[in-house]
Amino acid sequence: MSAKTAEVVICGAGIAGIAAAYHLAVRRGVTDVVLVDERPPLSLTSDKSTECYRNWWPGPGDAMVAVMNRSIDLLEDLARESGNVFRMNRRGYLFATADADRASRFIRRAQEAAALGAGPARVHTSPGGDYQPAPADGFEDQPAGADVITDRALIRRHFPYLAEDTVALLHARRCGWFSGQQLGMYLLERARDKGVRLHEGRVERVDTAGGRVRAVTVSARGGEQTIATPRFVNAAGPFVKPVARLLGVELPVLCERHAKFAFNDVRAAVARHAPMLIWTDPVRLPWSEEERRELGRSREHRHLLDEFPAGVHGRPEGAGESPVVLLIWTYDVETVEPTFPIEFDARCPEILIRGMSRIVPALAAYFPRLPRGVVDGGYYTKTRENRFLAGPLPVEGAYIIGALSGYGLMAANGAADLLADYISGRPLPAYAPAFRLDRYDDPAYRALLADWGDSGQL
Ligand SMILES: Cc1cc2nc3c(=O)[nH]c(=O)nc-3n(C[C@H](O)[C@H](O)[C@H](O)COP(=O)(O)OP(=O)(O)OC[C@H]3O[C@@H](n4cnc5c(N)ncnc54)[C@H](O)[C@@H]3O)c2cc1C
Repeated sequence: MSAKTAEVVICGAGIAGIAAAYHLAVRRGVTDVVLVDERPPLSLTSDKSTECYRNWWPGPGDAMVAVMNRSIDLLEDLARESGNVFRMNRRGYLFATADADRASRFIRRAQEAAALGAGPARVHTSPGGDYQPAPADGFEDQPAGADVITDRALIRRHFPYLAEDTVALLHARRCGWFSGQQLGMYLLERARDKGVRLHEGRVERVDTAGGRVRAVTVSARGGEQTIATPRFVNAAGPFVKPVARLLGVELPVLCERHAKFAFNDVRAAVARHAPMLIWTDPVRLPWSEEERRELGRSREHRHLLDEFPAGVHGRPEGAGESPVVLLIWTYDVETVEPTFPIEFDARCPEILIRGMSRIVPALAAYFPRLPRGVVDGGYYTKTRENRFLAGPLPVEGAYIIGALSGYGLMAANGAADLLADYISGRPLPAYAPAFRLDRYDDPAYRALLADWGDSGQL
């Protein structure tokens, strides 16, 4: 390791740390940034994502929608300047229901989202409605906001592959997906062009003599090295908590394990051009009578007959002969300590395929023989209300960008742009207070927390 001094040392080269380095070096002109990671860049959580983005977030207040709109603006700028190397699309998130009562909730939700700044609500109630489907590729010239479709003929015309009893759809439009790895590598290369140095090693200590950051000690293969620096950024992903303790700071964050299942859809069950598909009703997994009897007799597997929570979702990835389908479902979350390697529920592929067949019935073709695929995933590192942390820590010169939960790919640019405003002393956007650690010191915010509604987690 060569750096003996740095203007800023960032711990963590996941998407958060890389975006922070990019915004500091490329967009704010901060020179001499060192990015430290004990693993290869983007290899811990940032390559396990479903890589989707959305400006579709609940309140209270408009902070979450505002920061995501900013983040998506930045993603679109990056896509334009790079010739869309990270293949950003704008297919949208399609929420579907077979529950007639939910249709009116979809309309209310679209109107609330419009009031928060997500874009206008359009309701289509007749077969001749002027609903415009999303293109498979590209992101330019597309509507924002949401289309709510309550006419079943219109639903079938545009989405013939959905369950026949689907009675309403909400298509959120400033949403889609991209390659997170390509985005991260693009940001890292631009940052390195501006002098950002990447160092392999583990941040062991942060010297805070006199109440402010002085130096960071890193252990690497060649031994320990201390980098004198006035600024330290904690971007340690699932390890933000222990890294904050190096500064004597306790963070109110927790980790949940989340898995996804990716398989080659050789039966072409999921339409290649489909948006992100989300079923908003609770689901009972479909089993044959014989399977039901067998599961009912097994104490270990009986729960597979129970009702599963709403929210099973998935999307196609890529084109060609047998594109991949990604499925994900938050059906069994609990708070855990992050450890690696991660073990996942062996029944996850079956639960996901059967659950997702509620929205895409053609997936039932896989029941007799499950497709081979890959189960992987990582930790959602989050605050209790699921809003990230970006800003100063209570030690002078120390900052955080973390707790990016299940939305770090989409939010990293917005969060890093905000962090770079703090570090470069620029005026802060109106949403800045919503993402500071010291929001928890505010009694009014604590009262809000006690009665927090939807966290926006899918
Ligand atoms: C299954 C799944 C699906 C997801 N889907 C989406 C999605 O669709 N859209 C979306 O936007 N987000 C999604 N996410 C969330 C997203 O992946 C994360 O929010 C994001 O990757 C977090 O990035 P990070 O940089 O904070 O953490 P990480 O990528 O974990 O990076 C942290 C880095 O810090 C390093 N580090 C930690 N401690 C030290 C130390 N002491 N010294 C040196 N280095 C250290 C680690 O080695 C690591 O490389 C998903 C996540 C999962 C698990």
